Amino acid sequence: MKKRLFSVLAAGIMGAMLVACGSTSQTAQVSEAKPEPKETVTEEKPAEEVVTEEAVAEDVQKIIDRGVLKVGVKNAVVGFGYEDPLTGEYTGMEIELAKALAEKLGVDVEFTAVTAATRTELLDSGDIDCVLATFTITEERKQSWDFTTPYYTDYVSVLVEDAKGIKSLDDLVGSTVGVSSGSTSAKALVKAMIEKGLINGEAFDEESFDPATWSEGVKFQQYDDYPTISTALSAGEVDAFCVDKSILAIYRTEGRSYIDAEFSPQNYGIATTKGSGLSLVAEELVTESFENGTIDKLISENGLD
Ligand code: GLU
Repeated sequence: MKKRLFSVLAAGIMGAMLVACGSTSQTAQVSEAKPEPKETVTEEKPAEEVVTEEAVAEDVQKIIDRGVLKVGVKNAVVGFGYEDPLTGEYTGMEIELAKALAEKLGVDVEFTAVTAATRTELLDSGDIDCVLATFTITEERKQSWDFTTPYYTDYVSVLVEDAKGIKSLDDLVGSTVGVSSGSTSAKALVKAMIEKGLINGEAFDEESFDPATWSEGVKFQQYDDYPTISTALSAGEVDAFCVDKSILAIYRTEGRSYIDAEFSPQNYGIATTKGSGLSLVAEELVTESFENGTIDKLISENGLD
């Protein structure tokens, strides 16, 4: 308990230095932190540490004062973030990591269901403190948000109706593919097809790529959520459904198969506001969870290996 809060505070100090170097706003008292009384935290520390402990990053202190960590999670991705429709209970690897992060801060956890399209808006608006939602770390995204060390690596694939006879990336040439808005999927597929020599890559630009306007060899329909893409696949509105395998697995029902291709590693990390104190606490959690075997345990308990 003491060690837990101390490490949070230590991260807070680093966060404070990063976030507001020169600012005097990081003055929250340790005694305000719940549920640890000040005496418990300070009695074992040398005097000089007691002074610096007051510099808990402002954002972390806010969460501690609120008593709740608000986490954006998936609610239909079995093994990662899944909400039981009957009980409302959330399960999965990302749920457990979110609970551990809240525990580290000594607060409760509150889950908000997010999609690939909504997760960053909710983080930016402050409706949630962090995202644990199959969120792939990319160089582009790292410009806008902080990500921890990856806790899981998935791959992108493509799901089709068997009746369509699409079996490989080659067969996808000329097709329309359903993807989620705000996801890495369309770009990953185009890159894989270019690498295989199936698409002329001259018009491809990593930075400006837009699934809505791409028309070289394959076209995309973007949807707000995965159930809608699945319905569109059944209705023949799209020829294929492309996203990470962890998500596709849910929609791989009778009469549907993956094509024979798995590409573009997707490293999932916890996303937080850039430069926040919480970024450091989240990173510490992931590092510790690797060291003490929690990540391996969660992967195997959730059938993700
Ligand atoms: N993991 C991919 C991404 O971050 C797929 C989308 C999703 O997580 O829903 O873009």
